Amino acid sequence: MKFGGSSLADAGRIRRVADLVRHAAGQAPRETPVVVVSAMGGVTDRLFTLARTALAGRTGQGAALEQVDELRRHHERALDALCEGAATEDSRGEVDVRLAAYFAELRDIVIGVSLLGELSPRSLDAIAAYGEKFSTLLVAAALRAADTPAEAISAEDVVVTDATFGNAMPDMAATTRRAAERVVPLARRGVVPIATGYIGATPDGITTTLGRNGSDYSAAIVGAAVGAQEIWIWTDVDGVMSADPRLVPAARSLPDLSYAEAAELAYFGSRVIHPRTIVPAVAAGVPLRIKNTFHPAHPGTLIATTSAPGSGAVKAVTAIRDLALVTVEGLGMLGVPGIAGRTFGALATAGVNVLMISQASSESNIAMVIARREVAAATRALREAFALELHRHEVDAIRAQEGVAILTAVGGGMRGTPGVAGRLFGALGRVGVNVIAIAQGSSELSISCVVRDDHAVEDALRAIHHEFVEGAL
Ligand code: ADP
Ligand code: ASP
Ligand code: MG
Repeated sequence: MKFGGSSLADAGRIRRVADLVRHAAGQAPRETPVVVVSAMGGVTDRLFTLARTALAGRTGQGAALEQVDELRRHHERALDALCEGAATEDSRGEVDVRLAAYFAELRDIVIGVSLLGELSPRSLDAIAAYGEKFSTLLVAAALRAADTPAEAISAEDVVVTDATFGNAMPDMAATTRRAAERVVPLARRGVVPIATGYIGATPDGITTTLGRNGSDYSAAIVGAAVGAQEIWIWTDVDGVMSADPRLVPAARSLPDLSYAEAAELAYFGSRVIHPRTIVPAVAAGVPLRIKNTFHPAHPGTLIATTSAPGSGAVKAVTAIRDLALVTVEGLGMLGVPGIAGRTFGALATAGVNVLMISQASSESNIAMVIARREVAAATRALREAFALELHRHEVDAIRAQEGVAILTAVGGGMRGTPGVAGRLFGALGRVGVNVIAIAQGSSELSISCVVRDDHAVEDALRAIHHEFVEGAL
C-alpha cells in the first residue's frame, strides 16, 4: 500500500492512513500489508527550495537553516498530535531521537552545500530524500499509537539503484534480495513495514531518488520485490479518472484499465501515477489498484493485464503542457537515409528527451515534441549535427515553436475501430482548436495531437471528453 503526499498532509490525515493500514492488517491473520509512503504534502518542494536557498550568497546558509528548522517544527507538531494520549511514551522517545538525527544530518548537508557553493544532482537527492525519511517515522508512530506494531524503514537499505541521480533505475534482482532480508521478515512477524517511497541507494549506499512523483514507482518496485498479491496506490481521487478532474469537471472514475492503457495515460501526463509504475508490476504480474484515502469504500481503478472494453473507443484524455515543437525541414532531405537517425542521435547525445515524433510522408519534415526548457539544447545540437546540410541547403531550417501541448486520447477499444480519429478531430474543429501535428501509437491504444498551450488545451480536453466519454453514457 502506498500513500501519497496529499494523504499525509497533516496529523489528521496521517491518522486516517494509520486506520486504513490497521484495518488491512487486521483483515487476515497471516497477511500484513507492506506500506510505502511519500513525504508529507509539500515537503519535497520545500526541500528543493531550501537546497537552492543554501546556494544564495552570504545570507543563503542562514535562510536555508531557518527553513530546515521550520520543517522540523512542522513534523514535530504533527508527531505531537499523533502521539497525544497514546500510552507509547517509550517509542515516542525513540522516534524523537531518530527525527533529531535526520534533522542534524540535513543541517550538515545544507551547510556543506552552502560552503562549497555547489549543489550537484547527488547532493540534491541526498536533501530531497529526507521528506520520506521523516514521514515514515510519523506513520509508524501513528500505527504504534493505535496498538499496531510498525517499523519505519529507509528504502536506502532496500531499493538498489544505479547512480542516475534524480531519475535512478532499480536493480530488481538486488532489490528482491534486500527485500527478503529487510522487509519480508518484519511482515511475517506481523510488524507493518513502513518504507520510504521516492528514494533508493546505489550498491555502495549513496542515496538516489527515482524522480518527482516517484513514490508510486517505489510502491511497484517494493510490491514486486516482496511478492505482493496486489499493489494499492492510495491517493486523493477515486482512482484513475477519464480526465484530470481539475480541468474537466465531468471526469469520472474508470473501474479498470489494462497495463498498456495505464502506461499510455501516465506517459502522456496523467499525474495520478508515475509513468514507470507499470514496469515492475507487469514484470511481476501483480495487479495495481488506485484508491481514494478519503473515500475508501469506493472500489477505485484496477489495472491488470486485460481490462473490460470501455463503453466507448476512448476511455480517457490527458495533456502534457509547457512543451515545444522542434522541426528539421528541407526538401533536400527527401530520400536521404539516416536523417531521422542522426536527428535523434544528436538529441540523445544532448540529453534531450523526445516525447512525440511526427514525420510527413514527403520526408521533408521531421517534427519532435520536447520539454520547453530543453529547446536551446535541442536546437544547438541539431544545428551542429546538420551544419553541413544547412550550409548546402539540403536542410533548410531547424525551427522551434514554443508554447505547445500534447493532447492524448487513450483506449484499447480504438484498436480496429474505424472513425475514432475523425470523431476526435471533428470535436476539436467544433471548438475551434487548431491541430499542429498528429501521431498515433502503432499499438492503436492512443492518438496524440499537438495544440497551442493556452485555453485551447482545456477546450480540447473537454471537447474530446464530451465526444467519447460523456457521449458514451
Ligand atoms: P499523490 O499525492 O497521492 O501522489 P498526486 O497529486 O501526485 O497524488 O496525484 C493525484 C492527482 O492527480 C489528483 O488529485 C488529480 O488532480 C490528478 N490527476 C491528473 N490526471 C488524473 C486522472 N486522469 N485521474 C485521476 N487523477 C488525475
Ligand atoms: N515526495 C516526492 C515528490 O514530491 C515523491 C512522491 O510524492 O511521489 O515528488
Ligand atoms: Mg503522486
